[in-house]
Amino acid sequence: MVNIAYLSIGSNLGNRLDTFQEAFQLLAENPSIKLVACSSLYETEPIGYTDQDCFLNAVLKVETDLEPEELLHACMQIEQEFGRKREIRWGPRTLDLDILLYNHENIETEILSVPHPRMHERAFVIVPLMEVDPDIILPQMHTPLSDLFEQISDKEGVRLWKAKNGEGVFALFES
Ligand code: ATP
Ligand code: MG
Ligand code: MG
Repeated sequence: MVNIAYLSIGSNLGNRLDTFQEAFQLLAENPSIKLVACSSLYETEPIGYTDQDCFLNAVLKVETDLEPEELLHACMQIEQEFGRKREIRWGPRTLDLDILLYNHENIETEILSVPHPRMHERAFVIVPLMEVDPDIILPQMHTPLSDLFEQISDKEGVRLWKAKNGEGVFALFES
């Protein structure tokens, strides 16, 4: 698999942990995607639209043969498996699976922007991403993740919820 991508996963409706486990499984079942690392799980206060339950968030590192838009479609298909609806912008959702980074590329198409345009200002992305790969520098940004983290104002809304318990990607779900 020639490309490395980082995905952000989030959920605040239904059984969030079951959703994550099943979503990881569905990603892993795709022959063009290999899960190589994941962060711990973080519980995070909603931002943007605040009248909703807390989220679970994590970051996944994958290797893939899929082109960026193919990877987006794979993510959207998995969101649909969980009945994802888009009613309120940044509102409650069973599953959100976004592409944060794809190699070191800048991608701007009708349906895809990579790096994810809001990732650098989101503690719920930067905290788990730092855990997976602390040395990443975002394309066109010369700021280390730790500096981006310092610049974020809402970081107290991100709490460790389930620490990763081992190296395997599925270690999160073992009791
Ligand atoms: P946000 O993008 O602020 O995290 P969201 O994840 O709730 O908000 P969605 O409703 O999941 O937004 O997606 C809206 C659209 O964003 C999708 O239809 C998709 O085409 C587009 N999009 C653009 N860039 C990306 C990306 N990097 N990852 C996922 N979706 C993206
Ligand atoms: Mg999102
Ligand atoms: Mg999304």
